[in-house]
Amino acid sequence: MSRNEPGAVHRNRNCSLCMALFAWIKKAGGNRMMKVYQGKSVLNGIAIGKICLYKRDQQQVVRCKVQDIEGEIRRFQEAKETAISQLGALYEKAVKEVGETNAAIFEIHQMMLEDEDYLESIENIIRTQGVNAEYAVGTTSDNFAAMFAAMDDDYMKERSADVWDISERVLAVLSGTDKGVVMTKEPVILVADDLAPSETVQLDKENILSFVTVHGSLNSHTAILARTMSIPALVGTELPLDAGIDGKIGAVDGNQGCIYIDPDEETLESLRKKQAEEQEKKELLLTLKGKESITLDGQRVLTYANIGNSKDLAMVIQNGGEGIGLFRSEFLYLESETYPTEEEQFKVYKTVAETMAGKRVIIRTLDIGADKQADYFQLAKEENPAMGLRAIRICLTRPEVFKTQLRALFRASAYGKLAVMYPMITSVQEVRKIKEIVEEVKQELTRENLAYGEVEQGIMIETPAAAVISDLLAKEVDFFSIGTNDLTQYLLAVDRQNEALDAFYDAHHIAVLRMIYHTVQNAHRENIWCGICGELGADTKLTKLFLAMGIDELSVSPGRILPLRKIIRETNVEEEREKLLANWL
Ligand code: PEP
Ligand code: MG
Repeated sequence: MSRNEPGAVHRNRNCSLCMALFAWIKKAGGNRMMKVYQGKSVLNGIAIGKICLYKRDQQQVVRCKVQDIEGEIRRFQEAKETAISQLGALYEKAVKEVGETNAAIFEIHQMMLEDEDYLESIENIIRTQGVNAEYAVGTTSDNFAAMFAAMDDDYMKERSADVWDISERVLAVLSGTDKGVVMTKEPVILVADDLAPSETVQLDKENILSFVTVHGSLNSHTAILARTMSIPALVGTELPLDAGIDGKIGAVDGNQGCIYIDPDEETLESLRKKQAEEQEKKELLLTLKGKESITLDGQRVLTYANIGNSKDLAMVIQNGGEGIGLFRSEFLYLESETYPTEEEQFKVYKTVAETMAGKRVIIRTLDIGADKQADYFQLAKEENPAMGLRAIRICLTRPEVFKTQLRALFRASAYGKLAVMYPMITSVQEVRKIKEIVEEVKQELTRENLAYGEVEQGIMIETPAAAVISDLLAKEVDFFSIGTNDLTQYLLAVDRQNEALDAFYDAHHIAVLRMIYHTVQNAHRENIWCGICGELGADTKLTKLFLAMGIDELSVSPGRILPLRKIIRETNVEEEREKLLANWL
């Protein structure tokens, strides 16, 4: 027992200090010591479960001598076998989610782990130098990666990253910190330094009760993912990421924005009680499922859902989503090791269109760039990625990538009510260029006898330029959807990814609210509809104001549809309009 643990002090039943201490330890849950860490809450709610520590950091390899050489080689071989079976499981998962072509990378990694030269090098280092397996794997990884990187052929050069990846996996197994959390069999609270969008797509989401990260802002895509999954989550939590917390019991209280490690019985009991109350409220809300989102005085608002992939559809249906207001299609690209083909994309879009059975499905064309990076795009490093080559700018500079997606989208439109939306628009010229490309795609499909339906085309209003000229843009498109996440970032000049600026990221800022109202009014002047698909759309403090502005649609994480519908159905807009507009604007 370590000297720091409470039970390590001298145990004397006659000593009053000890008696007090024993009583305190008992209250704190036997040998356990409850710790509480504060973070910023992404979503209310309570999660109780085992903590799983996710470490992406490169393994630290230390060289040390070993006596039992054969034992060390066996240790390496066992780790290699475990890594191969992990990759097999990843392959199976990926086939289901992103198709065989994209899953193939995991098979390639399995083959690389059986490569004779690679294995010989590791075993040779262990034998000749009498050193540990970790050192042999690390050295072989460095040598082989450098060898591939020096090759002329671009394809071979890229294998350097693969060597690194497979070696990291073996090292993780050797050190007992298995790479990734995708293998988790039981529900866990995932604790990490930070999570990149490309990492979140790999997670076994069914088994994640909550996310708690040390870094990350309230507007990051990890935060958005937590909201989509309807699970409590914390970012900016100052908790130590040492192996000591891995496997411990944790309790996340999204209402208070804190996580308890090894909670005592009293705390657990009170959290369980709150959890049960929340569950009851949720069930009550479900009575609104299937009901219209209409105000007391008859103003109809569409309550749609934001999703990242077709697996989120179950949540949409469970929560009575009237349609999909934002399908972030870039997640298909992030899940993939290379550009998803037309066929692969078509299958996903078709599934979403069919599942929503005639309800409107708005698919946003790829919004890669900034924090959403896929290596194979080979985007140059930028000083200001949020203002860089991203979203529609990539599509317009790489029309072949854009056209592949558009072909898939238009083909899928034959299977449901599909709409397409373009991100990061700043000018009328961009919209006209997009429309030209869309026309080319439609003509191609017609020539090839491939069916497509009527497709509404809209744009995201998420740059100040687009909001300011929304009167001109409204003449060009069928609808607007306001992306308040980026609109706030650009209007207030506050990086949405920078956690240090969370206090300055004021989405209630009058400038943001005025821009929204301006955009809605301009849309209505041209008889097109206008919705909100940024996170602000789910902010129930503003729902009445949005109704007063005349918003036509609110697209939010599935779990937030019913609370929104409740407010809409309880509001009389006409009675409150003047006061609301005057108070806020
Ligand atoms: C937005 O910017 O508000 C938006 C919905 O898009 P994303 O969060 O994916 O950038
Ligand atoms: Mg955006």
